[in-house]
Amino acid sequence: MIIDFNRKDYSYEDLVLDADILTNTYKNIISNVTIGKSHDNRDIVMLRLGVGKKHILFCGGVHGRETVNPIVLLKIAEYYACHYEDCIKIRESRETPDDVLCDEELYELILFKKCVHELLHTYTILIIPLLNPDGYMISLYGYEAVKNQALRNRIKGMGIKHFEWKYNSRGVDINRNFPSRLWKPKGKGDYAASENETKALIQVFHQYRIKCFLDFHSRGKSIYYYRSAMSGEYNDKQLHIAKRLAHVTKYELNDSRNEIEPDDSGGNTVHYFSERFNKPALTIETVDENAAFPLDYKYRAITFDELKLVPLELGGVQL
Ligand SMILES: [Zn+2]
Repeated sequence: MIIDFNRKDYSYEDLVLDADILTNTYKNIISNVTIGKSHDNRDIVMLRLGVGKKHILFCGGVHGRETVNPIVLLKIAEYYACHYEDCIKIRESRETPDDVLCDEELYELILFKKCVHELLHTYTILIIPLLNPDGYMISLYGYEAVKNQALRNRIKGMGIKHFEWKYNSRGVDINRNFPSRLWKPKGKGDYAASENETKALIQVFHQYRIKCFLDFHSRGKSIYYYRSAMSGEYNDKQLHIAKRLAHVTKYELNDSRNEIEPDDSGGNTVHYFSERFNKPALTIETVDENAAFPLDYKYRAITFDELKLVPLELGGVQL
């Protein structure tokens, strides 16, 4: 086991190291690239899980204080890579099928591993566990985690408790920074795609032909699928995918009227992706609605259990 949910203290550096260990352990099926740098000079890493020609993208850690999803996404990569390798070992071993057929549980498990194997030959799952490493570090360790003094002084003045911090190290909400129909400037000099983290994700969107994009946030155990800027046909497909994901996660579907708060501006990751590529883009909210920040580390195992079948389920949808 590489990703250890019991390690309470889990910094950005731990995450990057674990991403490297995963890549070295599962070289056949995981590779790892840097897609950009945060404003406080941290690498933004992305894992590529699978060897398939089609791409699915998972993103986590857009908001600093949502500290559970980044490690859970790494665990998902480990889980699938591990089952994939097992499947290869089973193929290479001389085990007689009769032994397996007598044991129903073992038979089921082998079937599952075969499904994982097939999934990772059809798809490459791009996983950005932590798009906003600076925000993550601020929310866990306070403003002293910001290395650049000018940035640190500027954001300290915003008067927000560090464990409630959603923004990047320039005090910008990345999930309100994507060019889209609903995007509105939030003050003088505000412009869409101003942030490094936004640019990094946009570049990934354009570099790969992505069939489906899931952005993982917290809180609410729910799925946002409705896009007012998109066609009825587009929203029908979104609803279909959302229902399948709701079935495996046991999360609720969010009412289409809740797409955006009346006083809020748009510019979410999913707005940009859907409007630019006309492909499915859903927001998955993990963790109990009433969970307090900082989020308890107990949510890691619970969330992993809820999300672990999402890649397989998506693989079964005609994307
Ligand atoms: Zn969020």
